[in-house]
Amino acid sequence: MARKYCRPIATAHRYLAPLSRRCWSCDGPLWMAYHATRTVATLDGLCQFRLAVRRCVNRACALYHQPYRPEEEGSVALPKGEFGLDVIAAIAPCATPSTAACQRSTARCAREGWTSPSAR
Ligand SMILES: [Zn+2]
Repeated sequence: MARKYCRPIATAHRYLAPLSRRCWSCDGPLWMAYHATRTVATLDGLCQFRLAVRRCVNRACALYHQPYRPEEEGSVALPKGEFGLDVIAAIAPCATPSTAACQRSTARCAREGWTSPSAR
């Protein structure tokens, strides 16, 4: 279902850059291509990420003009996801209720006042 109103303005901002400046295929330089922005909802609030994307400029390379995005982006959220992995982990259903992660998740849900759709 589409959102009926705009998202609030992000309260936190972070800048992420790729770790390497050399192409791992041809060892040539990776040039700065563009910046992408991405807003992710985390448990601490909305965070806007500014991502530096690089590209190999060697025409003979197999990775010529392929975007090279920051590695850390994958630890923040799923591709094209608007919720962070911490939110997904907090609300994920428990496979085995006796695990420590599930008990922490249940305690947090009770503390924050969250209920599952089946409990309503
Ligand atoms: Zn290359």
